[in-house]
Amino acid sequence: MIYEGKAKKLYETDDPDLLIQEFKDDATAFNAQKRGTIQQKGIINNAISARVFTLLESKKIPTHFVKQLSDRDMLVKRLQIIPIELTIRNITAGGISKLLGIPEGIKLDFPVLEYHYKRDDLNDPLFNEYHIFMLKLATREELKEINERSFAINQILIDFFKEKNLDLVDFKLEFGRHKGKILLGDEFSPDTSRLWERTTGEKLDKDRFRRDLGKVEEAYQEVYRRVMGKEVLQ
Ligand code: 5GP
Repeated sequence: MIYEGKAKKLYETDDPDLLIQEFKDDATAFNAQKRGTIQQKGIINNAISARVFTLLESKKIPTHFVKQLSDRDMLVKRLQIIPIELTIRNITAGGISKLLGIPEGIKLDFPVLEYHYKRDDLNDPLFNEYHIFMLKLATREELKEINERSFAINQILIDFFKEKNLDLVDFKLEFGRHKGKILLGDEFSPDTSRLWERTTGEKLDKDRFRRDLGKVEEAYQEVYRRVMGKEVLQ
Protein backbone atom coordinates (compact mmCIF):
# COMPACT_ATOMS: atom_id res chain seq x y z
CA MET A 1 0.00 0.00 0.00
CA ILE A 2 1.38 3.40 -0.93
CA TYR A 3 -1.48 5.65 0.13
CA GLU A 4 -4.60 5.54 2.25
CA GLY A 5 -7.15 8.30 1.73
CA LYS A 6 -10.54 8.94 3.27
CA ALA A 7 -12.46 6.65 0.90
CA LYS A 8 -9.79 4.70 -1.00
CA LYS A 9 -6.47 2.88 -0.68
CA LEU A 10 -3.83 2.72 -3.39
CA TYR A 11 -1.51 -0.26 -3.93
CA GLU A 12 1.50 -0.72 -6.17
CA THR A 13 1.59 -3.60 -8.65
CA ASP A 14 4.44 -5.41 -10.44
CA ASP A 15 4.08 -2.81 -13.19
CA PRO A 16 5.36 0.62 -12.05
CA ASP A 17 2.85 2.34 -14.36
CA LEU A 18 -0.19 0.64 -12.81
CA LEU A 19 -1.82 0.91 -9.39
CA ILE A 20 -4.76 -0.78 -7.71
CA GLN A 21 -7.40 1.55 -6.29
CA GLU A 22 -9.46 -0.06 -3.53
CA PHE A 23 -12.79 1.51 -2.55
CA LYS A 24 -13.65 1.52 1.16
CA ASP A 25 -16.99 1.80 2.98
CA ASP A 26 -15.56 4.59 5.17
CA ALA A 27 -17.23 7.95 4.77
CA THR A 28 -16.02 11.33 5.96
CA ALA A 29 -17.36 14.84 5.56
CA PHE A 30 -16.32 18.38 6.45
CA ASN A 31 -12.62 17.56 6.07
CA ALA A 32 -12.94 14.37 8.15
CA GLN A 33 -14.59 16.09 11.13
CA LYS A 34 -17.58 13.78 10.55
CA ARG A 35 -16.80 10.08 10.15
CA GLY A 36 -18.90 7.02 9.51
CA THR A 37 -19.45 3.95 7.41
CA ILE A 38 -21.83 3.48 4.52
CA GLN A 39 -22.42 -0.26 4.03
CA GLN A 40 -21.42 -1.50 0.54
CA LYS A 41 -20.35 2.01 -0.53
CA GLY A 42 -16.98 0.68 -1.74
CA ILE A 43 -18.64 -1.89 -3.98
CA ILE A 44 -21.16 0.64 -5.28
CA ASN A 45 -18.62 3.42 -5.96
CA ASN A 46 -16.20 1.02 -7.66
CA ALA A 47 -18.94 -0.25 -10.00
CA ILE A 48 -20.37 3.20 -10.78
CA SER A 49 -16.90 4.67 -11.36
CA ALA A 50 -15.98 1.79 -13.68
CA ARG A 51 -19.21 2.32 -15.64
CA VAL A 52 -18.64 6.08 -15.91
CA PHE A 53 -14.95 5.75 -16.88
CA THR A 54 -15.88 3.15 -19.54
CA LEU A 55 -18.55 5.48 -20.91
CA LEU A 56 -16.13 8.44 -20.99
CA GLU A 57 -13.41 6.37 -22.69
CA SER A 58 -15.97 5.35 -25.34
CA LYS A 59 -16.52 9.09 -25.97
CA LYS A 60 -12.76 9.72 -26.36
CA ILE A 61 -12.17 11.17 -22.89
CA PRO A 62 -8.91 9.65 -21.58
CA THR A 63 -9.05 8.36 -17.99
CA HIS A 64 -6.80 6.42 -15.63
CA PHE A 65 -9.19 3.45 -15.71
CA VAL A 66 -7.76 0.17 -16.99
CA LYS A 67 -10.20 -2.45 -15.69
CA GLN A 68 -12.26 -3.54 -12.74
CA LEU A 69 -10.47 -6.33 -10.86
CA SER A 70 -13.00 -7.26 -8.19
CA ASP A 71 -15.98 -5.76 -6.40
CA ARG A 72 -13.81 -3.25 -4.53
CA ASP A 73 -10.66 -3.06 -6.67
CA MET A 74 -9.92 -1.20 -9.88
CA LEU A 75 -6.69 -1.26 -11.92
CA VAL A 76 -5.64 2.28 -12.86
CA LYS A 77 -2.72 4.04 -14.51
CA ARG A 78 -0.37 5.72 -12.07
CA LEU A 79 -0.89 9.47 -12.13
CA GLN A 80 1.02 12.43 -10.91
CA ILE A 81 -2.09 14.10 -9.48
CA ILE A 82 -2.57 17.79 -10.21
CA PRO A 83 -3.71 19.22 -6.85
CA ILE A 84 -6.81 20.93 -8.23
CA GLU A 85 -10.36 19.80 -7.44
CA LEU A 86 -12.43 20.94 -10.38
CA THR A 87 -16.13 21.34 -9.73
CA ILE A 88 -18.84 21.72 -12.33
CA ARG A 89 -22.30 22.85 -11.27
CA ASN A 90 -25.55 22.65 -13.25
CA ILE A 91 -27.95 23.38 -10.37
CA THR A 92 -27.14 25.39 -7.23
CA ALA A 93 -26.38 23.41 -4.06
CA GLY A 94 -23.85 23.15 -1.26
CA GLY A 95 -20.76 25.31 -1.66
CA ILE A 96 -22.08 27.78 -4.22
CA SER A 97 -25.28 28.46 -2.25
CA LYS A 98 -23.23 29.11 0.88
CA LEU A 99 -20.61 31.19 -0.93
CA LEU A 100 -23.02 33.45 -2.83
CA GLY A 101 -26.05 33.38 -0.52
CA ILE A 102 -28.45 31.84 -3.03
CA PRO A 103 -31.02 29.07 -2.49
CA GLU A 104 -30.32 25.49 -3.51
CA GLY A 105 -32.06 24.00 -6.53
CA ILE A 106 -31.79 26.86 -9.02
CA LYS A 107 -31.10 25.54 -12.52
CA LEU A 108 -28.17 27.46 -13.99
CA ASP A 109 -28.28 28.89 -17.54
CA PHE A 110 -24.79 27.52 -18.17
CA PRO A 111 -22.50 25.20 -16.22
CA VAL A 112 -20.34 26.93 -13.62
CA LEU A 113 -16.75 25.73 -13.22
CA GLU A 114 -14.78 26.18 -10.01
CA TYR A 115 -11.31 25.26 -8.87
CA HIS A 116 -10.42 24.33 -5.31
CA TYR A 117 -6.84 23.88 -4.17
CA LYS A 118 -6.54 20.22 -3.06
CA ARG A 119 -5.08 20.90 0.39
CA ASP A 120 -6.77 19.31 3.41
CA ASP A 121 -4.70 21.47 5.76
CA LEU A 122 -6.29 24.58 4.15
CA ASN A 123 -9.81 23.07 3.78
CA ASP A 124 -9.59 22.95 -0.05
CA PRO A 125 -9.98 26.71 -0.64
CA LEU A 126 -11.69 28.11 -3.73
CA PHE A 127 -9.06 29.67 -6.01
CA ASN A 128 -8.69 30.86 -9.59
CA GLU A 129 -6.48 30.39 -12.63
CA TYR A 130 -4.09 33.13 -11.54
CA HIS A 131 -3.42 31.19 -8.34
CA ILE A 132 -2.98 27.98 -10.35
CA PHE A 133 -0.36 29.59 -12.60
CA MET A 134 1.24 31.40 -9.67
CA LEU A 135 1.67 28.05 -7.85
CA LYS A 136 2.75 26.39 -11.14
CA LEU A 137 0.19 23.60 -10.65
CA ALA A 138 -0.59 23.44 -14.38
CA THR A 139 0.40 25.27 -17.55
CA ARG A 140 -2.06 27.39 -19.51
CA GLU A 141 -2.28 24.67 -22.16
CA GLU A 142 -2.93 21.99 -19.55
CA LEU A 143 -5.64 24.01 -17.83
CA LYS A 144 -7.33 24.76 -21.16
CA GLU A 145 -7.38 21.02 -21.90
CA ILE A 146 -8.68 20.22 -18.41
CA ASN A 147 -11.50 22.79 -18.73
CA GLU A 148 -12.57 21.57 -22.17
CA ARG A 149 -12.55 17.95 -21.01
CA SER A 150 -14.55 18.82 -17.91
CA PHE A 151 -17.32 20.54 -19.89
CA ALA A 152 -17.40 17.61 -22.32
CA ILE A 153 -17.64 15.16 -19.38
CA ASN A 154 -20.47 17.26 -17.93
CA GLN A 155 -22.55 16.99 -21.10
CA ILE A 156 -21.95 13.26 -21.45
CA LEU A 157 -22.91 12.64 -17.83
CA ILE A 158 -25.95 14.96 -17.81
CA ASP A 159 -27.33 12.85 -20.68
CA PHE A 160 -26.30 9.56 -19.07
CA PHE A 161 -27.96 10.30 -15.73
CA LYS A 162 -31.03 11.88 -17.35
CA GLU A 163 -31.74 8.49 -18.93
CA LYS A 164 -31.75 7.09 -15.38
CA ASN A 165 -34.16 9.86 -14.29
CA LEU A 166 -31.42 11.56 -12.25
CA ASP A 167 -30.36 15.21 -12.38
CA LEU A 168 -26.60 15.73 -12.31
CA VAL A 169 -26.51 18.72 -9.95
CA ASP A 170 -22.73 19.01 -9.55
CA PHE A 171 -19.57 16.93 -9.29
CA LYS A 172 -15.86 17.07 -8.57
CA LEU A 173 -13.09 15.88 -10.90
CA GLU A 174 -9.36 15.37 -10.46
CA PHE A 175 -6.83 15.07 -13.26
CA GLY A 176 -3.24 13.87 -13.36
CA ARG A 177 -0.30 13.38 -15.69
CA HIS A 178 0.70 9.98 -17.06
CA LYS A 179 3.49 9.60 -19.65
CA GLY A 180 3.08 13.21 -20.79
CA LYS A 181 -0.71 13.01 -21.13
CA ILE A 182 -3.47 14.42 -18.94
CA LEU A 183 -5.92 11.77 -17.73
CA LEU A 184 -9.06 11.96 -15.61
CA GLY A 185 -8.31 10.28 -12.27
CA ASP A 186 -9.90 9.54 -8.91
CA GLU A 187 -13.53 8.34 -9.07
CA PHE A 188 -17.01 9.35 -10.12
CA SER A 189 -19.64 8.29 -7.61
CA PRO A 190 -22.39 9.56 -5.30
CA ASP A 191 -19.49 10.50 -2.96
CA THR A 192 -18.14 13.05 -5.44
CA SER A 193 -21.32 14.22 -7.14
CA ARG A 194 -24.84 15.34 -6.34
CA LEU A 195 -27.59 13.31 -8.00
CA TRP A 196 -31.24 14.26 -7.50
CA GLU A 197 -34.20 12.13 -8.48
CA ARG A 198 -35.78 14.06 -11.36
CA THR A 199 -39.40 13.40 -10.44
CA THR A 200 -39.28 13.72 -6.64
CA GLY A 201 -36.16 15.87 -6.15
CA GLU A 202 -34.92 13.33 -3.59
CA LYS A 203 -31.21 13.55 -2.87
CA LEU A 204 -29.44 10.29 -3.83
CA ASP A 205 -25.85 11.14 -2.90
CA LYS A 206 -23.44 11.82 -0.05
CA ASP A 207 -25.48 14.80 1.15
CA ARG A 208 -27.70 12.22 2.90
CA PHE A 209 -24.66 11.36 5.07
CA ARG A 210 -23.31 14.92 5.35
CA ARG A 211 -26.69 16.33 6.42
CA ASP A 212 -27.99 13.32 8.42
CA LEU A 213 -30.97 12.90 6.10
CA GLY A 214 -31.30 9.14 6.74
CA LYS A 215 -31.64 6.35 4.17
CA VAL A 216 -27.98 6.77 3.20
CA GLU A 217 -27.35 3.17 2.12
CA GLU A 218 -30.68 3.09 0.29
CA ALA A 219 -29.68 6.15 -1.76
CA TYR A 220 -26.37 4.61 -2.87
CA GLN A 221 -28.14 1.34 -3.68
CA GLU A 222 -30.74 3.21 -5.74
CA VAL A 223 -28.05 4.93 -7.83
CA TYR A 224 -26.33 1.55 -8.31
CA ARG A 225 -29.62 -0.03 -9.39
CA ARG A 226 -30.27 2.69 -11.96
CA VAL A 227 -26.72 2.78 -13.33
CA MET A 228 -26.02 -0.95 -13.31
CA GLY A 229 -29.57 -2.17 -13.98
CA LYS A 230 -29.41 -4.72 -11.15
CA GLU A 231 -29.35 -5.02 -7.35
CA VAL A 232 -26.10 -4.81 -5.36
CA LEU A 233 -25.22 -8.41 -4.46
CA GLN A 234 -25.61 -9.02 -0.71
P1 5GP B 1 -19.49 21.67 -2.76
O1 5GP B 1 -18.44 22.65 -3.16
O2 5GP B 1 -20.87 22.14 -3.08
O3 5GP B 1 -19.34 21.21 -1.33
O4 5GP B 1 -19.23 20.37 -3.64
C1 5GP B 1 -19.50 20.38 -5.02
C2 5GP B 1 -19.48 18.95 -5.57
O5 5GP B 1 -18.15 18.46 -5.54
C3 5GP B 1 -20.31 17.97 -4.77
O6 5GP B 1 -20.89 17.05 -5.70
C4 5GP B 1 -19.32 17.28 -3.86
O7 5GP B 1 -19.71 15.94 -3.61
C5 5GP B 1 -18.04 17.33 -4.69
N1 5GP B 1 -16.86 17.57 -3.84
C6 5GP B 1 -16.16 18.72 -3.72
N2 5GP B 1 -15.13 18.56 -2.87
C7 5GP B 1 -15.18 17.30 -2.45
C8 5GP B 1 -14.37 16.53 -1.55
O8 5GP B 1 -13.37 16.98 -0.97
N3 5GP B 1 -14.75 15.23 -1.37
C9 5GP B 1 -15.84 14.70 -2.00
N4 5GP B 1 -16.17 13.43 -1.77
N5 5GP B 1 -16.59 15.40 -2.86
C10 5GP B 1 -16.28 16.68 -3.07
